[in-house]
This record gives sequence, structure tokens and C-alpha cells, in this order.
Amino acid sequence: MSISGGPFKALERGRSIGCAAIQIFVKNNMQWFAKPFSDADLIAYHGYPDRPRMVFGHTSYLINPGARNPEFLEKSIRALGDELTRADQLGLPFLVLHPGAHMGDGEEAGLMRIVSSLDSSFASLADGRCRIALEITAGQGSCLGHTFEHLAKIIERSKFPERLTTCLDTAHLFAAGFDISTPKGFWETMRNFDRIIGRDRLAAWHLNDSKTALGSHVDRHEHIGKGKIGLVPFSEIMRSEEFAAIPKVLETPKSDDLKEDVENLRVLRGLLERRQETKKAGVQEVRR
Ligand SMILES: [Zn+2]
Repeated sequence: MSISGGPFKALERGRSIGCAAIQIFVKNNMQWFAKPFSDADLIAYHGYPDRPRMVFGHTSYLINPGARNPEFLEKSIRALGDELTRADQLGLPFLVLHPGAHMGDGEEAGLMRIVSSLDSSFASLADGRCRIALEITAGQGSCLGHTFEHLAKIIERSKFPERLTTCLDTAHLFAAGFDISTPKGFWETMRNFDRIIGRDRLAAWHLNDSKTALGSHVDRHEHIGKGKIGLVPFSEIMRSEEFAAIPKVLETPKSDDLKEDVENLRVLRGLLERRQETKKAGVQEVRR
């Protein structure tokens, strides 16, 4: 949800279409740095009545904690620290981050650089509270984070594992080659996630259909049910009790009047109603 006009505007936009959870950028996502929030920004944000139950953030797309170029790497670490500070000012529990790209140096070197960048950012903010949710990626180009093992390695090697969690994106999973388009494939993927990372480290879902095919490694989001994934994983995620407490947000194409969000929410909540009807009828859900 856009924060144009001030961060409280995102809360207003979210409430206007009945969101229980929203994701925001903590500044213009195409800029490295922005002027600090004013007192008026923060008062309006924290004093906003009737806010969505969950608000979390997403980092700027410019940030690459795996950058090879020393200037970009330094800027990425500084920008990440700056965004974590802004997130703390807004009281956000976590910021979603695409882990980074190795830029030709290979996976191992890239992962090590990501760990050291994240550690530098955390170390520079001793009193920081906001965590980083490493997002599964489509694995485009030299981007890392398209396997659960990548995310697990970053968490295991960091000096600040308590500051790290993860975010799963349905479109990225599918493009990375996880076939979540069938119930069997979806639950197998979740079992692997539980084994390699652990369910206590699932902070959020990004619910997006994919314009691109399974294993394409190309990241293009599509409206729910209109892409190559179909409705299966969305139905499983919306209907399963085990995800009831995990916030879920859309990152699908949208215009200023939010009509596409309204439609995607309608489709998703339609799937949820089926869960409630099943419960009301006293039907036992099939255990997978
Ligand atoms: Zn995402």
C-alpha cells in the first residue's frame, strides 16, 4: 500500500478497502535515501484510529546486500540500516528483503557477502527491534534466495539469527520451480520448508499468481486465479488453520482507485468462506 502523502495514508488506504494486513515501503522504493519522517508524519501515523491489525514493510528494490561493487555494497548496507530505523519509528515488526544477487561471484561468495552485510546493518543498530524477513525469490539472473537452503544458510551463518525470519511468495516459489499448483505439491513444499527453515520462521505470505511458467525463474506477478498457478495454493493457504495467524498481502498490479485489490481480496475471501462453511457443516478437513 502506497505511503504517498505520509505513512498514515497507507493505513487509510488499507482500511478503505477492508484490509486486515498491509505491506508498505518505508520510503520511495526507487530511491536510495529519503528525508527522515517528520514529527507530524509519526504523530499522524501512530494516532491513526482503526488501523489494520498488521502492518509490515518491504525494503527498496535498489538494496543488494550481495553486491560485488564496493560502492553499491556500502550504499546497500547504509540504506538497509536507514530503512530499519524508519521501520522502528513506525513500529513495524519486520521488513521483507530480497536477499541479494551475487553478480557473477557465485552462490557461496554471494551468500557470505549477504550475511556480512546484514550483520553490519544489525550491528550498527544495537537497539533496533525490526527484523528482516528474507523472501524466497524467483532466482532471476544471479539473484540468490530461490531455495530454502539459501535462506537457511543466511540465517545459520548470521551473528543475529534472532533478527531473521522469512517471507514466502507464491509467484516466486512457482517461478523458482516449486510446483505448488497441486495440493500434493503445495504440502510437499511446506514440509520441505518446515524441515529446512522451520515454520516458526514464516512471518508472512505474499499472495500473487504468476504470469510466468513453473521454473521459469522470471518474476512477473498476476492477479489471483488469472495466472499459471491457478487457485490451489491460495485455497490451501486461505483455508488451512495453520496459516490463519500468518499475515497475507497482495503484490498484484494495481491502480490508484485500488479496484484490482478489491477484486483480488474478493477472490481470496471467497476461498476462505469455503473453509468456514466446511467447519459449520461439521465436516472433518482432510489431513494431508
Ligand atoms: Zn513478494
